[in-house]
Amino acid sequence: MTTSSTIAIVGGGLAGAKAAEALRDNDFDGHVVLFAAEDHLPYERPPLSKEYLAGKKKLDDFTADPAAWYRDHNVELRLGTEVTAVDAAEHTLALPDGTTVGYDKLLLATGSASRRPPIPGADAAGVHYLRTIDDAAALSAALTPGSSLAIVGAGWIGLEVAAGARGRDVKVTVVEAAHLPLLAALGAEVGEVFAKLHREHGVDLRLDQSVQEITTDNGTATGLRLGDGSTVAADAVLIAVGAAPNIGLAEQAGLAIADGGVLVDASLRSSDPDIYAVGDIAAAQHPFFGARIRTEHWANALKQPAVAAAGMLGKSAEYDELPYFFTDQYDLGMEYVGHAPEYQRVVFRGDVAGREFVAFWLDADNHVLAGMNVNVWDVLDDVKALIRSAEPVDPDRIADPAQPLSIR
Ligand SMILES: Cc1cc2nc3c(=O)[nH]c(=O)nc-3n(C[C@H](O)[C@H](O)[C@H](O)COP(=O)(O)OP(=O)(O)OC[C@H]3O[C@@H](n4cnc5c(N)ncnc54)[C@H](O)[C@@H]3O)c2cc1C
Repeated sequence: MTTSSTIAIVGGGLAGAKAAEALRDNDFDGHVVLFAAEDHLPYERPPLSKEYLAGKKKLDDFTADPAAWYRDHNVELRLGTEVTAVDAAEHTLALPDGTTVGYDKLLLATGSASRRPPIPGADAAGVHYLRTIDDAAALSAALTPGSSLAIVGAGWIGLEVAAGARGRDVKVTVVEAAHLPLLAALGAEVGEVFAKLHREHGVDLRLDQSVQEITTDNGTATGLRLGDGSTVAADAVLIAVGAAPNIGLAEQAGLAIADGGVLVDASLRSSDPDIYAVGDIAAAQHPFFGARIRTEHWANALKQPAVAAAGMLGKSAEYDELPYFFTDQYDLGMEYVGHAPEYQRVVFRGDVAGREFVAFWLDADNHVLAGMNVNVWDVLDDVKALIRSAEPVDPDRIADPAQPLSIR
């Protein structure tokens, strides 16, 4: 890559911003252009459902880089510009105004969008989704003290908003199709912990329930009608049933797709050698797990771009960080590391009822696949070491807080 080369980044989320930073950190002095569909400078999304709703942070506090950074580093930032097509053979991008822009290397960082299930009434006023700062501002305005909120979906975003809304004295009902919250992410053992947490904070948690309809009056949502015929009255409704990766451009460019994302190797390079993908859309081969993993985690958006930038600049690098995410709900803070789509058992260490513990997901041979520390800090490195050791542990020993968190 030379000073006359162009690297284009499509997607103005955290991953896009970190990619621009990484290219300049690697002394690339060619042209960098970053296309962002939103009108805002790239920002981090985790605070939207946490500190922003709680009124503790505003957009400036979680903007990735100020406008001056892009100017000072000669990064062309095209806000409010959605790339509409990629011509991989010609190495060009199409823009809504009919113009095209050429690239030598392309990084796709298009992230995800909220899933919008076809529930009758979902287009009514007062129905919210939460993906962008504009969504968060609209939701926040609806959460006035004494009002009521019905949340469809007890996943991470639904539960974080439930906690934030309770903190604003909003009456909250959460409706979930599964028999526990976070069941797909964490399994039943830890799902129970979150069910108890929210019920103790006054959330009306309706499990094993489908939503038949969003009830409306004059085009404005008034609540939900559930599968068992019962109704939930609400001033506002949040639909939080997961995110769908934005892979339309990648599909249209003819890239290989896997697990709902863009298939990339461990260097984050796609099936086209000049196109890389990072963040929520990247279905990446993981060197440690020997499996393809696609996760919608902030940590990937933060760290994968440095690897992709190195690759685009002809250096060799692989992304082998263990998957990591975190949540904050009421006074529960936790970090989860690892990958346990299937597991044999969960071992707890510490005070589960008091919500101060570490949980370990083990396979049938007692290898630690994943760990989660809840209101226990400074153990993350130990948990990572247990996973990376790939050696079996003694379950009784790791369950005993008096024993060190090591293999033997
Ligand atoms: C409310 C909320 C809370 C979260 N909390 C946590 C958390 O606590 N912990 C955690 O680990 N993760 C959390 N996440 C997930 C985390 O934010 C995502 O994994 C992360 O944002 C992914 O970053 P990204 O840059 O890949 O994509 P995104 O952040 O989705 O950014 C992609 C950007 O690209 C733009 N774009 C898409 N297509 C185009 C196009 N064709 N042209 C131009 N621009 C385009 C989009 O508009 C978007 O702005 C949360 C997400 C949300 C929404």
